[in-house]
Amino acid sequence: MLKRTVLLIEDNPQNRYLVTFLLEQHGYTVVAASDGPAGIELARSFSPDLILLDIQLPSMDGYAVAQALRTVPSLECVPIIAVTSYAMVGDREKAMASGCNGYIEKPIDPDNFVAEIERIRQSAVKKADRP
Ligand code: MN
Repeated sequence: MLKRTVLLIEDNPQNRYLVTFLLEQHGYTVVAASDGPAGIELARSFSPDLILLDIQLPSMDGYAVAQALRTVPSLECVPIIAVTSYAMVGDREKAMASGCNGYIEKPIDPDNFVAEIERIRQSAVKKADRP
């Protein structure tokens, strides 16, 4: 399996631990940041294959982080998946409007999480490949 690097932007240590564990189990490399500015800095420095983005973050929320990531030319085509416990009507649309390619709701389902990420990543990559 191709080794992909995921940038995880998540302020909750338990969620960081769980997501890292699940992804590493499936052969991914995970680099984590606990807030938006640190995540943006990391994303600029190494261009991850995928970004997992918590929405409820200190100082800068995930919508603002996604918008900032989308202004970086080298990150234009990197899939961003929002991972959030906000299950409010309109959040999905707000995440997509901010530049995310998909949306996963917490609590994280360990049995389906990685498959769901891979499904969203593949559909985002296909879209980006279209002329
Ligand atoms: Mn959070």
